[in-house]
Amino acid sequence: MAVVTPTKIVCVGRNYAKHAAELGNDVPAEPLIFLKPPSAVLAPGAPIVLPRGVGRVDFEGEIGLVIGRRARHVSVDDAWDHVAALAPVNDVTARDLQRADGQWTRAKGFDTFCPVGVPAPVSAVDLGALAVSTRVNGELRQHGSIDEMAFSIPVVIAHISRIMTLEPGDLIATGTPEGIGPLEAGDEVSVEVAGVGTVTNPVVEEVM
Ligand code: MG
Repeated sequence: MAVVTPTKIVCVGRNYAKHAAELGNDVPAEPLIFLKPPSAVLAPGAPIVLPRGVGRVDFEGEIGLVIGRRARHVSVDDAWDHVAALAPVNDVTARDLQRADGQWTRAKGFDTFCPVGVPAPVSAVDLGALAVSTRVNGELRQHGSIDEMAFSIPVVIAHISRIMTLEPGDLIATGTPEGIGPLEAGDEVSVEVAGVGTVTNPVVEEVM
């Protein structure tokens, strides 16, 4: 069972300078956002399915936010008041399709491409110590703390809320640090958010 049921998943691209650089990009002047479909949400322990014929598929460990109170035109100062919980998120990405398409909907939108861990209430989390780590088969591949974000979590929430109404249950993925890399069938990938929790998923080939 999926642990979240968002009406939309809003993701931030290139929010860590070293990750932007590893893919040959600059940090944008404003938060760069895109959507993943709610149908991509995957429960902890369920398999990430590698679609046939799409080339490289990467993990992207991210700090996820679950909206608790409708947010529209919220200020940076009030932004955290609209968040109910945090959760580890894996923004799984078909990297070759992302490069080929320009638009990211296909690359980011396959079923199973959004593993989400069990949310932890904001009140239970040390927001100053937030960091995300990704492990593949137990080996540390990514680590980033919120200090390294180009746009802070409150700035991201305020920015998105000026564009679209964030509804309770909506999910925001706040961007991935450097170290992204490909997944292969048989791998096990874990995204851990410090003080929040971990989401772990096996990786399988698509069976037609
Ligand atoms: Mg991402």
